[in-house]
Amino acid sequence: MRMSSYFLPTLKETPSEAQIVSHRLMLRAGMIRQTSAGIYAWLPLGWKVLQKVSQIVREEQDRAGAQELLMPTIQSADLWKQSGRYEAYGKEMLRITDRHDREMLFGPTNEEMITDIFKTFVKSYKDLPRNLYHIQWKFRDEVRPRFGVMRGREFLMKDNYSFDLDAEGARLSYRKMFLAYLRTFARMGIKAIPMRADTGPIGGDLSHEFIILADTGESQVFCDKQWLDMDVLADNPDANGDLKDFFTKYTSIYAATEEMHDAAKAPADLVTARGIEVGHIFYFGTKYSAPMGAVVTGPDGQPVTVEMGSYGIGVSRVVAALIEASHDDAGIIWPDQVAPYKVALINLKADDEACRTTCDGLYARLQDAGVDVIYDDRNERPGAKFADMDLIGIPWQLTIGPRGLKAGTAELKRRATGEKLELPLEEALAKVM
Ligand code: ATP
Ligand code: MG
Ligand code: MG
Ligand code: MG
Repeated sequence: MRMSSYFLPTLKETPSEAQIVSHRLMLRAGMIRQTSAGIYAWLPLGWKVLQKVSQIVREEQDRAGAQELLMPTIQSADLWKQSGRYEAYGKEMLRITDRHDREMLFGPTNEEMITDIFKTFVKSYKDLPRNLYHIQWKFRDEVRPRFGVMRGREFLMKDNYSFDLDAEGARLSYRKMFLAYLRTFARMGIKAIPMRADTGPIGGDLSHEFIILADTGESQVFCDKQWLDMDVLADNPDANGDLKDFFTKYTSIYAATEEMHDAAKAPADLVTARGIEVGHIFYFGTKYSAPMGAVVTGPDGQPVTVEMGSYGIGVSRVVAALIEASHDDAGIIWPDQVAPYKVALINLKADDEACRTTCDGLYARLQDAGVDVIYDDRNERPGAKFADMDLIGIPWQLTIGPRGLKAGTAELKRRATGEKLELPLEEALAKVM
């Protein structure tokens, strides 16, 4: 991407409406634009990050055996009347009437719809287990939408639903998702801690919230200090096994949200902090399958009501949470795995023939190598260029200027550490390839 033609409306001033750093930086970096209260357009840079985050979520779901589909945003109220949640859901649900006076709604979640789809097609225990997910926009008419996309009204969620023949199977499905969630967040370069949680309006008896520790978090959380050193990717539990040892290990280390916190059970090395809920998983048995009639024929020919779980990740909230967890005074510091571009190629003197030829050549080579590169080819002050790249948080800055070019060198800066190296051009290039 060439900066000279990029739709990147960065702001110099700090927007006054933004109370937390991620909201401020997302506005300043030209990632989002509010179109109504709690509803945002994702501009090219923001959309790119949202897609990177979605892709990691998708890969880990696929790895865990879940299958992607896509359900609509608009749902019929009938399904929600079957489960009994149409009235119960209250004012957070955006209710819509179509031209034929049919009651519709913009889905806040999809338990009812997926249960209906499942029961239409699956009739036998032989077709179990199944785990289905989609990444789709949700709407919840939050009383107080705030903090940008952190608590929006329209937001992107990955939600999936597991179907099993019995409670034992459902608990295995739950453990698989527990692992998938830990891996998902670890791969994004953030630490999300699973905390025993209340099951709330979804219902059921087993539930964990995945929480990122951050001062601006909306909830009070408690966890054993040990959590700060856990590394699920290094542990790499066998995903094909029953995952019982892994689950026992990870759930025996204390971590609880305020509602579930029990001071008597808390360890001596307790961390008390604020947290952001980025994911939430539930095992709720037959709460939806029973009223909606999701029944299969069991091995003995008898009807069995399927056991279900549901699993959500606030994909758009994760983008904001990543910024809360990784920024400095100059701007965002994207972890490599979710960065919109890996390399910022900065031409310090765009009107210098030699600089331009060299940079154009480097840009082409990086693109050919499949490296995500953003190229500042504008005729701007060097200071403005560095400030923009720091603000939008690109992990590597490769700078070419007339003086270095004469000596055959380039400057390579690592955004996260601020470390700068003057290297022979080819060597600098090799480091970011
Ligand atoms: P919260 O406690 O923040 O209101 P929730 O418990 O109501 O969230 P869930 O029903 O568990 O949310 O939905 C799954 C995930 O969707 C949450 O863990 C969160 O990451 C995300 N999410 C929920 N509400 C919002 C929102 N208003 N804006 C952005 N993301 C949200
Ligand atoms: Mg909520
Ligand atoms: Mg919650
Ligand atoms: Mg929740």
